Amino acid sequence: MFGLGTKNLGIDLGTANTLVYIDGKGIVLREPSVVAKNTKTGDVVAVGTEARDMIGRTPGSIVAIRPMKDGVIADYDTTAAMMKYFMEKALGRSNGKPYVMVCVPSGVTEVEKRAVIDATRVAGARDAYVIEEPFAAAIGAGLPVMDPTGSMVVDIGGGTTDVATISLGGIVSSRSIRMAGDKIDEAVIYYIRQNFNLLVGERTAEDVKVQVGSASVEKAAKGDNITVRGRDLISGLPKTVEVSAVDIAKAIQEVVAEIIVAIKETLEETSPEIAADVIDHGIVLTGGGALLKHLPEVIADETKVPVFIAQDPLDCVAIGTGESLKNIDVMKKR
Ligand code: ADP
Ligand code: MG
Repeated sequence: MFGLGTKNLGIDLGTANTLVYIDGKGIVLREPSVVAKNTKTGDVVAVGTEARDMIGRTPGSIVAIRPMKDGVIADYDTTAAMMKYFMEKALGRSNGKPYVMVCVPSGVTEVEKRAVIDATRVAGARDAYVIEEPFAAAIGAGLPVMDPTGSMVVDIGGGTTDVATISLGGIVSSRSIRMAGDKIDEAVIYYIRQNFNLLVGERTAEDVKVQVGSASVEKAAKGDNITVRGRDLISGLPKTVEVSAVDIAKAIQEVVAEIIVAIKETLEETSPEIAADVIDHGIVLTGGGALLKHLPEVIADETKVPVFIAQDPLDCVAIGTGESLKNIDVMKKR
């Protein structure tokens, strides 16, 4: 079916991270979805990890862009350039253009889906197909997606949280909300600005979240403080403050609450049979946001359903997208 030497790729084009999976090899690339560009010439200066290290540190003529926002393409040309770079890096010098499977959040519009397919072609794919992210996440998490039993997956990424119940190879009910890791980082930035008159960057806020962030205010480590550096809003000078884990937990509470609402609404929409299956098997969390401390306990408390974190939560979507390459012949006929 495919030319000799042509490899097929699965790409998890995430708001925060892009992962590339090669058929028969597994995940070969994991890099931040960031591109650094020269604003005068429009040239791409760096992509991925190298570009991420430039966020908030670029001189006037260079900007570090995250071309995906809220799970969809915000900057088309930059996304295509980024994908081209990652595809070439993953494939090395191989002949033949690959067929590529890319994931998109559930609930994206046809126009948004089209943009992903077109950008993937511009980036060098022979042809491109999309798979819904929660479905890919469920496959990657090892859930029995093809069985006549309901599974529930919650994928918490940078831009979106995708919640879905799945049975018999299809999504039964789903929600995609633009509330995930980035919104938590924004809440941290806002909290520190309001309470300490301190301006901190995205990277710093994300560090604070990863180190002391907690989905539960009660369970946040009491007496646990973190040193945060930024720029004083009044003096304009660099300043260091101590922020407590409990306060950070309070600051991000609202975002966590919205994620729980989306989970509850999705559960309420399912049939009693699927709800019963979910109670039996539990809810599985994927995506980097699944690693927020105490999140499984908080969701379990609120929903009265057991909650588990998938093995390698950051890899699930890429693995599922890659595994679904096996079905690319079926997809082609659609
Ligand atoms: P996307 O699919 O949108 O690219 P990912 O699934 O790669 O997103 O997850 C990235 C998000 O997960 C980021 O917002 C990142 O800050 C967050 N994240 C990663 N590790 C942790 C952690 N240990 N605790 C909380 N959030 C985390
Ligand atoms: Mg993702």
